[in-house]
Formats: sequence, structure tokens, C-alpha cells
Amino acid sequence: MTPSRRTALKVLAGGGCAAAAAAAPALAREPKVAPPGAMGMLYDTTRCIGCKACVFACQQANGLEPERDPSGLHLAPVDLGARTKNVIKLYKDGPRMSYVKAQCMHCVDPACASACMLHSLQKDPKTGVVHYDPSYCVGCRYCQMACPFGVTKFEFDKAAPKIVKCELCRHRVKGEAKKDARGFTRYASGEGPACCEVCPREAVVYGTREELIAEAARRIEENPGRYFENRAYGLTEAGGTQVLYLSHLPFGLIGLPDLGGRGVPHVAYSIQEGIYRGFVAPVALYGALAVAMWRNRRGAAPPAGGEGVPS
Ligand code: SF4
Ligand code: SF4
Ligand code: SF4
Repeated sequence: MTPSRRTALKVLAGGGCAAAAAAAPALAREPKVAPPGAMGMLYDTTRCIGCKACVFACQQANGLEPERDPSGLHLAPVDLGARTKNVIKLYKDGPRMSYVKAQCMHCVDPACASACMLHSLQKDPKTGVVHYDPSYCVGCRYCQMACPFGVTKFEFDKAAPKIVKCELCRHRVKGEAKKDARGFTRYASGEGPACCEVCPREAVVYGTREELIAEAARRIEENPGRYFENRAYGLTEAGGTQVLYLSHLPFGLIGLPDLGGRGVPHVAYSIQEGIYRGFVAPVALYGALAVAMWRNRRGAAPPAGGEGVPS
């Protein structure tokens, strides 16, 4: 972002937030909660060996052409992109290192869906999966600006470009839900997210959010001292996510941003409500929304610090 654009956003933000803070002493929108059948994934850095089987399985399952790294020598995606819905990155902090899987977090209160004027991005009321329907998309990329995890990507090189992001392999998951031998929810199609099915170490597993929270608690209890803060990332961050992380390193060191406990749409809605109640000019509304986005972008840490993993 250029300094002038940053300055403009700061000025707009200051005015918008001041107005909102003065006019909105109480929140008008209840925080969202995950639906009872919310599906998600649990990723555990301590089990991941960086084999990238999940990356290639994701590309195959989603019919995506493999991406080359910047050298052009390796078929190794270095970050999420228009042909990569799932990537493994390497984060280093002195002698400490960690592989980290990145894909859509399937937020409980998704900023991308909230920013999409045409409802191309929506949260499934039953599974909570945040899915995309390109038939309504006009390519405004507001969803890209709004996502606090830097997940949504755009097909700049296509004549009819679409947004690209993980949809939890919903095209593979069909039929009635039932429990498998280990107590995880599975669907009649027998297929789940490709990344989870190929992982040789159960570093990424699929289930309902409740099952995954219980699995995270089990791993923490069975391995004292192994996990940062003895908790999973995503329980509360940004209003909660359906993809949860267990990590041996501090979350901030593996690109998981500190976003507080409220969803971005929840914050933005509260600001809007305050402005309208105070009869402040619409320009202040845009200023307030701009700062929500600006703060959001500043907190979007995933691409920083991580490296691509060579093949
Ligand atoms: S991580 Fe980004 S793209 Fe995924 S649901 Fe949340 S806001 Fe939307
Ligand atoms: S759930 Fe499917 S689309 Fe999402 S990262 Fe895993 S394999 Fe890729
Ligand atoms: S398949 Fe599993 S172990 Fe291999 S890189 Fe992916 S998450 Fe890590």
C-alpha cells in the first residue's frame, strides 16, 4: 500500500471510528455461533512432516493445474494462489521451525461473505462451510480485501476470472452423516477433504468442530508441554473458525494473526449501527469500513515469514 493511500485510510479511519465510538455505546448485533453440524479440520504442527501430500491431493481433487515456484524448476506452490487452495509453508525462528498448512479457515462469522454484495460467498447453514458461487461474482474482490487470513485469491490470468479458495472439498462430501469407528462424523459418499484423507500422520483431520475441539483437548492432555498455551487457535480468534490449529510454536510465529475475539463483520456492523444512529454523513461510514479493512489487512500475517517448501 502506498503512503498516501495509507494516510488517507488513517484519516478516514480516525473520523469514522471517533464518530462510531461516540454514537454506539452498545453492540447491536449478536456474535455468530457455529451451526451444530459445523464441519472443519484440525491441523497439528507437531505431527506435520512437510511431505506436501495434502497439497498435491488438493490440486487433484479440485482439478487445479500445479503451480511452479518462482525459479520455475519445481512444481512447488510457495503460497496460496489462483491455482493453490492449500499450501504447506515453513516458518523459522532461530533454531526453531515449523511446517504450517494454510487454506480457508471457514470462519464462524466470515468477513469474505459479509463483504460480498452479491452473496457469491456464503456460509452453509448446516455445515458452516464457506462456499463460492461464481455465477453471481462480478470480480470486485472486496472479499479478498476483507479476509483477515489473506486466503481468497483471484484468477488474474483468465478471461472470465473467479475467486479461488478452499471449500472444504464439499463436492466430495455427500449423503447422510454418520460416525466412523473412531467417533468422527463421516458422510455416506465415504469421501472427505482430500488433504485429510492422504495425510500419513493425521496432522490434519476432518470432523465436526465439536469433535475436533475434543480431539485437540485429548492431544493436549496426553502430551503435557507440547503445545503452545495448551490450547487450539481458532476457538475464539476472529469470532471463531472451523479450522483449528495446534502448534508447538507461538501462533504469531507461524503466521496466525492475533485478531481478538470478535469477527470482522461483527466489528464493522457495530460501527455502522453507531453511525446510522448518530445521523453522521455516509462518508463517515465508508471511513469506518475502510479502517476495519485497513486494520484487518495489517493483521493478515500468514504470507509473512513463511517460506515455500521445496519438492
Ligand atoms: S478465512 Fe477468509 S476466505 Fe475463509 S471464511 Fe474466513 S474470511 Fe472467508
Ligand atoms: S479441504 Fe479440499 S480444498 Fe480444502 S485444503 Fe483440503 S483438499 Fe484442498
Ligand atoms: S500431508 Fe500431512 S504431514 Fe504431509 S504436509 Fe500435509 S499435513 Fe503435513
